[in-house]
Amino acid sequence: LSQLFRPLDLLGMVYRTVRQGLIDMNDMFALVDAPAEVIDRPGAPALAVRRGHVCFENVRFGYEPEREILKGIDLDVPAGATVAVVGPSGAGKSTLARLMFRFYDVTGGRILIDGQDIAEVTQETLRAALGIVPQDTVLFNDTIGYNIGYGREGATPEAIRAAARGAAIERFIESLPQGYETRVGERGLKLSGGEKQRVAIARTLLKDPPILILDEATSALDSGTEAAIQATLATIEHGRTTIVIAHRLSTVVDADRIVVLDHGRVAEQGTHAELLEAGGVYAGMWHYQATQAERAIAVA
Ligand code: ATP
Repeated sequence: LSQLFRPLDLLGMVYRTVRQGLIDMNDMFALVDAPAEVIDRPGAPALAVRRGHVCFENVRFGYEPEREILKGIDLDVPAGATVAVVGPSGAGKSTLARLMFRFYDVTGGRILIDGQDIAEVTQETLRAALGIVPQDTVLFNDTIGYNIGYGREGATPEAIRAAARGAAIERFIESLPQGYETRVGERGLKLSGGEKQRVAIARTLLKDPPILILDEATSALDSGTEAAIQATLATIEHGRTTIVIAHRLSTVVDADRIVVLDHGRVAEQGTHAELLEAGGVYAGMWHYQATQAERAIAVA
């Protein structure tokens, strides 16, 4: 099945080919060159997910050989825990997510899921175990029901409605004259940033993956919408191993652990309180963002 390709109408007139089931990953590559094809090893076994323990062991990686982006990352995400990755722009946060999906192979070290090296198992079973709520969700030029149902092949209308309810977008859809049959995307109804994120959350609920990656939007939603989305995300994180790629700090305060990436290395890690107390990179970023927020309030 992983060999089945289907053409998708994305980004207006641009047709791209995306492997079925990976629509949301497309966002991560919208602005980068298509990655080199990663090949399964002959006879590679299926990934067997038990509890969803994720471990990066001394991971090294560069998009180009002469420029290493990750310089030996050790990262342990216990099964069911929420770990947030923060760090300056360009530190390599989104790169970690791309490596987990094995869009690229690491150049050193290993990424393990429940003790299995992800480079040794089939990509199809690896990607089936991972869900992502991306920064900016790409919608198909199709109905909103189709866009949600894409999360799981053969999803019934009832399952799609339940996912919409879980993502708190059911009422919005039911208020539309054509309900789930409403066409969205470039040639249909334009959804707001928050509504698109809810479609992504609904897709993920349908997929029901044991491991979740949240690639937080870089552009801020208004604070009311953001709080509502955070509350919805908190419910889907429950019981799953979650890695939050955080481009802002406001949303990571409650993570079980915060990992600070800087210059391709883990600079420090701990809870929000521990890191503030340590007075290092994180504390500096936190105080800087707090000052910026105060300035923004003063200007408004
Ligand atoms: P931000 O918070 O700004 O999104 P980030 O920490 O997520 O940043 P990444 O997107 O992981 O950063 O990028 C890390 C580095 O890798 C950056 O210097 C970026 O320019 C580089 N990079 C990302 N994608 C590619 C690519 N396809 N080819 C070459 N370099 C890349």
